[in-house]
Amino acid sequence: MSLLGVLGLGLLDPATAILRADDVGVTRGDGCFEGLRIRTDPAGHSTVHKLDMHLARMSRSSAALDIAFDEDGWRSLIAESCASWTTPGEAALKLVLTRGPASGTSTGFLTVSPLPSDYPRQRREGLRVITLSRGVTSDAFAGAPWLLGGVKTLSYAVNMAAQREAERRGADEAILVSTDGKVLEAPTGSVVWSIGRTLHTTPPGATGILSGTTQRLLFERAVENGWAAAESLVSVDDLHGADVVWVISSVRGPVDVVALDGKQRPRVPEVDAEIRSLCGF
Ligand code: PLP
Repeated sequence: MSLLGVLGLGLLDPATAILRADDVGVTRGDGCFEGLRIRTDPAGHSTVHKLDMHLARMSRSSAALDIAFDEDGWRSLIAESCASWTTPGEAALKLVLTRGPASGTSTGFLTVSPLPSDYPRQRREGLRVITLSRGVTSDAFAGAPWLLGGVKTLSYAVNMAAQREAERRGADEAILVSTDGKVLEAPTGSVVWSIGRTLHTTPPGATGILSGTTQRLLFERAVENGWAAAESLVSVDDLHGADVVWVISSVRGPVDVVALDGKQRPRVPEVDAEIRSLCGF
């Protein structure tokens, strides 16, 4: 981490201890977060990509968790951080909100870190992906808001375990699949695929997947540029039949899948370049 900011306190030395050991954000993963992309021009001027969409989602996550969300406080802390971040290129901004100790208040903090070191290679070479079960049906979250489907909670241990399992099996990334065989999402990204000039993604809601800000921006811009867009619940076999498959998220961007469950996929550079550009990459 290169920069640390705390809601109500401003920027601090990144080595400062800021959380109590009994904060349930730490002991139970009870809280929410966002991951955003920062771009900094050669003159050292930084901008945050899709800030409004991320704050809107974090506000919804906080509401689902019954944790107060201080939007103005976040906006000024982010502005202060951006003004201090002058390293040209890309960086990752993380916003974290914990519930706090049993008899205390929540803690909001942000960090700015360099782009993860493997992302440039993944963008260049594409992703080797395997499918893994999420262990639930594709309608498991219907009518059950306490399951926190679509909420970006801090409880990502399962997501991280799925990514490690993919790496153990020689892949770069996982795509999670429901027990009834439907494509859901990647552990930290949306799944998008193209068939002709139509882009598809998995519907949020009953599936419990997180609605991605990058996917939503992409679909808006794609439709303005002559694409059709659809939410589709499909099998892994259907995904094999797509023209191009991407795993899409804010910091990594859209990265095309070059192998799915060991089966090589041809790359389609013109389409991939168009999708990257529509996503702002
Ligand atoms: N799905 C999951 C589970 C994620 O964790 C993320 C982002 O981290 C996404 C999808 C993509 O969301 P976004 O495009 O807003 O980064």
